[in-house]
Amino acid sequence: MVQTIPTKLPGAEIISNDPTTGKEIGRAPLFMPEEVAHAVARVREAQPEWAALSVRERGRVIMKSRKIILRELEEIAALISSETGKPAAEAVSLELTPALDLMQYFARNTAGLLRPRRIGIGQYWTMGRSSYEVYKPLGVIGIISPWNFPWATPLDEVVMALMSGNAAVLKPSELTPLTALKIKEVLARGGLPDGLLEVVTGDGSTGAALVAAGVNKIMFTGSVATGKRVAEAAAKYLIPVVLELGGKDPMLVLDDANVENAARAAVWGAFANCGQSCSSVERCYVHESIAERFIAEVVKETRRLRQGPGREENIDVGSMSSERQLRIVERHVNQAIDNGATALTGGERVRDVTGPFYAPTVLTNVNHNMDVMREETFGPVLPIMKFRSEEEAVRLANDSDFGLTASVWTNNITRGKRLAAKIDAGTVMINEVFYTHGIAQTPWGGLKQSGLGRTHGRAGLLELVHTQHIHVNRLPFMPDLWWFNYDERAARLFRGFARRFASGSLLQTMLLLPQMIQRWREPRN
Ligand code: NAD
Repeated sequence: MVQTIPTKLPGAEIISNDPTTGKEIGRAPLFMPEEVAHAVARVREAQPEWAALSVRERGRVIMKSRKIILRELEEIAALISSETGKPAAEAVSLELTPALDLMQYFARNTAGLLRPRRIGIGQYWTMGRSSYEVYKPLGVIGIISPWNFPWATPLDEVVMALMSGNAAVLKPSELTPLTALKIKEVLARGGLPDGLLEVVTGDGSTGAALVAAGVNKIMFTGSVATGKRVAEAAAKYLIPVVLELGGKDPMLVLDDANVENAARAAVWGAFANCGQSCSSVERCYVHESIAERFIAEVVKETRRLRQGPGREENIDVGSMSSERQLRIVERHVNQAIDNGATALTGGERVRDVTGPFYAPTVLTNVNHNMDVMREETFGPVLPIMKFRSEEEAVRLANDSDFGLTASVWTNNITRGKRLAAKIDAGTVMINEVFYTHGIAQTPWGGLKQSGLGRTHGRAGLLELVHTQHIHVNRLPFMPDLWWFNYDERAARLFRGFARRFASGSLLQTMLLLPQMIQRWREPRN
């Protein structure tokens, strides 16, 4: 649990505890609103000089920081593990590796991704016009992040903000401040100019202060409830927001799927990071003809998982990151069981150990009236339902307030693609689960209550810049045809514009040429 001492007074601190032992691992300041405003002012001052550097020079800092991370891989993994309870090996596979990949990708490719683009402007070119767009940094990006991936989520956002020429202020989760401070330290040692990245540790009040501190955009990752609060506050200042919120991600296992592999994927997708991922498999639907075999495989694989403190070796599943999150899991599972669900394995917290350990749980006999199938559980729970037809599977997948990721399992890729197109989600994977947040090149984000906007890929980079349109007239000595004065002939030409020019056809536009030349030549007053 987070403790703040003393509450909300200057000099207050947040204490970071190891969730598995409950022991303090360190402290960080609880930033007050005026300190947050000061941090924003500081980075704003440093930003123009950074934006004036070439993208290649910015990339050099990122690549140097990347080298430091690689050298200190084990130490950073241990820190992440101790702040979250996840296995250190998983910190390497799910956080450090994807972030290292993202760093090299944006360090090397941002220049190309943000190269000015020529825009085709239909028939306006016949009048000597051309257009292109350029991308300019927004200024200061406020990043608010959660605790479940305390390294990869904020670091990805920071790197993309910096590479696109912005400064950044990061407000990490109150559960994982030390990991965020390590991000700042590594970048500083990599040569990031002083004052370009500030980390304002604190709780929700610090996050709210960041939204109010005059940043140019908020990149928020967290729960739906907080996301809505952030959007509401940002609207007051007319600040754009990207919201990466929760998920209730469905996995559809069709009758022609490879049962063994789909079962292993379901187990990893549901229990990696102890199920505390926005893209965890939160609901599984399996065709009735293979359901018995699939469920038996899932249960067998789940029982083989080794659970324990993340710092120990040979551990598959760690503890949950907080007692608060464990209580949500308990509520969902208990409510489902009270209403007829069956826990084939797990179904309760692990007794006789300290720390928030919840046993990996497989539920059957579930339905869409249960919270475990409707709300984000965000824990090691895999509820499985059967379906009879593809239509039913798609209907069940889309019967959700969320739309982050989904997966379809089939040996027929064409069939998989056909179903993928029918599913309402930001990402649909065919024969894959969970991991695509780790691909720097592809867009990440959701529909419905899962959020607004995108991170990663070119779409994510475009969220961090403003697109400026530059329009050029190469015939500056000629008045435009649509300028004053209007008379009968002009009106005829304008009708011709509507019918021919606006058709987009060069031939049709050429038919107007005599009238156009006449209007250009006639005197206007
Ligand atoms: P949360 O919403 O409680 O907190 C997220 C962050 O917002 C924290 O840093 C918190 O201090 C801050 N905050 C709290 N109140 C605030 C306010 N009024 N104004 C501004 N900031 C405020 O979420 P959490 O429990 O830390 O994270 C879990 C949630 O994050 C889950 O719902 C999960 O699905 C979601 N998540 C989504 C993605 C994604 O990419 N879509 C990724 C990871 C996590």
